[in-house]
Amino acid sequence: MKTLRVALAGNPNAGKSTIFNALTGARQHVGNWPGKTVEKKEGKFRYGDYEIELVDLPGTYSLTAYSPEEMIARDYIINEKPDLVVTVVDAANLERNLYLAVQVLELEVPIIMALNMSDVADARGLKIDQAGLGAGLNAPVVRTAASKGDGLDALRDQIVSFAGKQQTAAPFRIDYGSEIERELNELETTIHQHQHIAEQFPVRWLAVKLLEGDDDIQTRLRVVEGGMEVLVQVNNSADKLEKEFDDDVDVIVADERYGWINALVRKTVDRSRVNRLTRSDQVDRIVTHRLFGIPIFFLAMWAVFKLTADVSAPYLDWVDGVISGPISNWVIGLLSLVGLGGSWVESLFVDGIIAGVGGVMVFVPVMMFLYLALALLEDSGYMARAAFVMDRLMHAIGLHGKSFLPMLVGFGCTVPAMYATRTLENEKDRILTGLLVPFMSCGARLPVYVLFAAIFFPQNAGLVVFSMYFLGILTAIVLGIILKNSLFKGKEESTFVMELPPYRLPSLRSIWFHMWERTYSFMRKAWTIIMATSIVIWFLLAIPVRGGASFADTDVSNSAFATVNEWVTPALAPLGFNSWQASSALMTGFLAKEVVVSTMSQVYAVAGAEEVAAPTTFFEDLGEIVTSFVSATGDTIKSLPLIVGIDLLDEEAEEEPTALMHAVRAGFDESSNGHGALAALAFMVFVLIYTPCMTAVAAEKQELGAKWMWVSIIGQLTLAWLMAFAVYQGGLLLGLG
Ligand code: GDP
Ligand code: MG
Repeated sequence: MKTLRVALAGNPNAGKSTIFNALTGARQHVGNWPGKTVEKKEGKFRYGDYEIELVDLPGTYSLTAYSPEEMIARDYIINEKPDLVVTVVDAANLERNLYLAVQVLELEVPIIMALNMSDVADARGLKIDQAGLGAGLNAPVVRTAASKGDGLDALRDQIVSFAGKQQTAAPFRIDYGSEIERELNELETTIHQHQHIAEQFPVRWLAVKLLEGDDDIQTRLRVVEGGMEVLVQVNNSADKLEKEFDDDVDVIVADERYGWINALVRKTVDRSRVNRLTRSDQVDRIVTHRLFGIPIFFLAMWAVFKLTADVSAPYLDWVDGVISGPISNWVIGLLSLVGLGGSWVESLFVDGIIAGVGGVMVFVPVMMFLYLALALLEDSGYMARAAFVMDRLMHAIGLHGKSFLPMLVGFGCTVPAMYATRTLENEKDRILTGLLVPFMSCGARLPVYVLFAAIFFPQNAGLVVFSMYFLGILTAIVLGIILKNSLFKGKEESTFVMELPPYRLPSLRSIWFHMWERTYSFMRKAWTIIMATSIVIWFLLAIPVRGGASFADTDVSNSAFATVNEWVTPALAPLGFNSWQASSALMTGFLAKEVVVSTMSQVYAVAGAEEVAAPTTFFEDLGEIVTSFVSATGDTIKSLPLIVGIDLLDEEAEEEPTALMHAVRAGFDESSNGHGALAALAFMVFVLIYTPCMTAVAAEKQELGAKWMWVSIIGQLTLAWLMAFAVYQGGLLLGLG
């Protein structure tokens, strides 16, 4: 069996992943490119006598050095020298897709072109002369409609038969016009004189890139023997050309390349039968309309938000119930079988591990609904319109139009919002968005605001809660502008054009695939970090440090947890809430904001009696899982009208935690010498700004990488402290509170 290494290259949305999945099936591995947060997919399949190793390169519009995606793609081709590159192009947008394909060809690797989306091109009335295109590019062209499975066999055949042939054809080249060719020839001659350079790069490509002023290549050449000599000549050539053309060389080269492609497309694509205004265009007239576009956009976003935040809620309760009910029961049962019933081991399992991991599992329904919504938006083609509509607004604060969606989802929950940043193609935008998302006040922070507003600002509770949300948005905007002009300053991707793919009916398979793949990778990675922290906190709570209680049976105020918090407390003194109770709530709030209020009732010692559940059998538990799932499904269906704002579920009213309110009030008044309201406001600001929860941290690590995770944690803590300080001390100075 012979091995072939094949890479897939193409613009985003050209259908690379669809082809990749269709060819490799289940034999694939998803990871990251070394040192990057860009996803790397590898897979294998057999065909004929060959075992084919396939790599899905990141989707790019070009092969300049502007983005990590482009660097990855071109470095892979240059360094790994795959046997073959399959360039996937969108036949319905041939001209722009060829811009990348031609650059791959210039790298002098053998290519096959998959003319994908040929169904869409047909429907539009575009007639493409396949043979003419192949002749012009000096590469085989295969028509495919990957989402329907058309043309894939031909593609497999072509891959294998292409490998069987000797590659003797003359290398592909674009004629850049006599002046540029003159300089290119001289450069190529010089490069050939340095054999080690000529071995490292395709020579003509290197000459073109150097003339274009490619930073990455210049940097690399600088450290190579003889590189400086080449660079000096490049400078002379570039100067000469810029004088002759009175324009930048990279612009001239890009123009020539576009011109060449344009000529090829004019020769090979017959547009005479193209429907002037397709259905897609008609819809776009409304959807991307300067006025109507925005309300439509907000409606769509509202639907996504509702779907992830509210419609998933019954399933969230179901998972919660299953874990704290049947699963805990089973674990307790198993432990008592081995004689550990009622021991501290049981508590470690139930209150530590199960509670911690359960905290992650409850996110799974939220994630699935988010991914469902995202897959629908992406696959239908609306996402690109949404980005288009929002781009101007978001650009003003340094973000991409597509950043809007993660931000909005962030009001529901930071975790899915962090994963939603994946829809951004550019790494820089993704990281910046990921850093700002946590400032969108998530649902779990709301109970904290509500409690504190009710205690300290009963007259203006609504206003206070609203201003927390507003402060979060404002923080993100200001920080976005600052970061964009400092840390994230840099060249804009010059070839970036907003893509408006045609609308499509999303296929169930692709939606399911996206939904499952993303949810699974979340489950696999996120829970470890949570379990570790849950166990640590459990031990801190279990270890008695005073009061003579025994292990795992101590009062919170006598536990190591309280001691740790007493160490932290002095740092909170300038913020007005320096009690160990307040810092405990913040500490567990680091795990999950949902537990801030429950920790408070625990540490202010006002917890109600624990309810004792009646003992159940294995099968009763099993029955319970099934019936509660059915009822959750019922509730979810009933909650669907929520998407348009109609609430069919009657929420049970929450009890007033009056004892807790008195205790908190007294505690905050004491730590702030009577300025309780100001201290409470500072506390709320702190809760708003600091790390949302452990699961969000895990998501940050996964999406942004460990480095940015730490930047995020430390940045949020610092900012939270500073802003709470400003609120409290500022308030004192102004004589408020
Ligand atoms: P990638 O960004 O290049 O990996 O593109 P994807 O493989 O994710 O495809 C983008 C979208 O185009 C998905 O919704 C696919 O289902 C759809 N798609 C892919 N190939 C075709 C095709 O040949 N015809 C049609 N109509 N849709 C396609
Ligand atoms: Mg893809």
